[in-house]
Amino acid sequence: MSMNWNSPAHPEFLTTDNRRLPVNRIFCIAKNYEEHANEMGGEVDRKAPVHFQKSFDALTFGPNVRYPSHTDDLHHEVELVAVLGQGGNDLSPEEAESVIFGYAVGLDFTRRDRQAEAKEKGLPWEIGKNFDDAGVMGVVTPRSELLVMENAAITLDVNHQPRQAGDINQMVYNTTELIAFLSTLQELKAGDLIFTGTPSGVGAVIRGDHLVGRIDGLEDLAIQLV
Ligand code: MN
Repeated sequence: MSMNWNSPAHPEFLTTDNRRLPVNRIFCIAKNYEEHANEMGGEVDRKAPVHFQKSFDALTFGPNVRYPSHTDDLHHEVELVAVLGQGGNDLSPEEAESVIFGYAVGLDFTRRDRQAEAKEKGLPWEIGKNFDDAGVMGVVTPRSELLVMENAAITLDVNHQPRQAGDINQMVYNTTELIAFLSTLQELKAGDLIFTGTPSGVGAVIRGDHLVGRIDGLEDLAIQLV
């Protein structure tokens, strides 16, 4: 049998100024909005952020997003995605702010039934969070076009009905705090993505649903579940 595979390519995201740049890693923050932590029956952890990763193959840019196997309860989570343009270890808050390349709207899809089972058994969230098309990101607005994002409305509509609404100023740990924290655990690099957590209002979606995520100042993210 002859081996035949292409060397793994980093997925590339699109910027508002029409560049295509490679993704390095996909970090996701859990329980970063108090109302969402509460609706999940949990509490925010004010000692340190909680995070997990999705793999390259889990990332898509839409517009079609595949409904996954092994769930009857796929949930939407609209999130601000911070994109790093540089990296480093043990970054100060000021350094953390300086390494941000830009921002996008993202969706952290979750097999909520599988995640709930994992939580109950004290197991990792992998089965609930990492699968084909589990992470979606929109077009990245480079930070040079923006003020630093501290306040911005974040919403998600499903089939034109509002489901999630919040403001990124409700995050327990802001973007620079998250970057500083992650940089203590491993060397951060250009192309690392950070899905910064979701506001309240998460819920189930089904095949055929049309979702639009919006964050003031960024490009909308519109997708269809297929
Ligand atoms: Mn999430």
